[in-house]
Amino acid sequence: MTAIYPDFYDRFACKAGDCRHSCCRGWEIDVDGESAAYYRALPGTLGDDLRAALVETEDGCHFRLTDDERCPFLRPDGLCRLIRELGEEALCDICALHPRFYAEVGDAELCGLGLSCEKVCELLLSSSAPLRFVAEDGESMDFAALLCCLGLKAGVTPLRFVPVPSEARYAEILRRLAATEPIDKAWPEQIRALEACLSDLVENAAEYAAVCDRARYDRIYQYILFRQLERAGEDGLSALAAYAGLSTEFVFMQDALLGADPEHLRRWSEQIEYSTENVDRLLEN
Ligand code: SF4
Repeated sequence: MTAIYPDFYDRFACKAGDCRHSCCRGWEIDVDGESAAYYRALPGTLGDDLRAALVETEDGCHFRLTDDERCPFLRPDGLCRLIRELGEEALCDICALHPRFYAEVGDAELCGLGLSCEKVCELLLSSSAPLRFVAEDGESMDFAALLCCLGLKAGVTPLRFVPVPSEARYAEILRRLAATEPIDKAWPEQIRALEACLSDLVENAAEYAAVCDRARYDRIYQYILFRQLERAGEDGLSALAAYAGLSTEFVFMQDALLGADPEHLRRWSEQIEYSTENVDRLLEN
């Protein structure tokens, strides 16, 4: 199996204490069986704290979050107590893996970094060059060549982002995003605030389309599509492209209104990409 990576993959390094949207907050942290057994056997104060934090359910183990939904081992300075006291090898699988993802397409393994991580958004958007992917044998390819390499025929599927700022389209995008399962209370408010300024959104987006760095949105569009390529056989490439187009347009409309900011992409990702149910809903039609 050939592993294929986006070209910025090796530049990823967790921002740790400098991260404003730490992945150690707001998510339930599942603990794999091997790590849970190691934690249970650990002596000393940290072992006691680990045993107190582990919750066992019929679905497996997880850490009990604090009242403000933080991992109990996230220190006030934003660093991980387990890494500081035991080293990275003590992390459970999910903490060691995040934000990496892996997907099989044919006999290739697509390896990526998830956009819910602010560092990954910064890396993706730090360049205006066309997005490139690198196979483990060193072959470098653009997005069209990647599809070809995976045996996926693009046909009429657009490979670049084309903004369509119109009231009908933007109202439809916001309606569909409002119908996704909210990750938090702020999500419906965010959508309502955008709906309340629909005509400004469209006007700003039309002006922005003429002056913005369009390559930025091609990178977003292709990367969103890249993450879903494992579904191409089941859902079809054109449905995935429509999903990526709608999602990129959502980021684009906020950038046009509020100024280009990687946070618009990160926020979209944590709400949509990290919920299979929400991806399914957006792919429904
Ligand atoms: S979101 Fe990314 S940068 Fe922030 S703590 Fe998690 S892995 Fe590190």
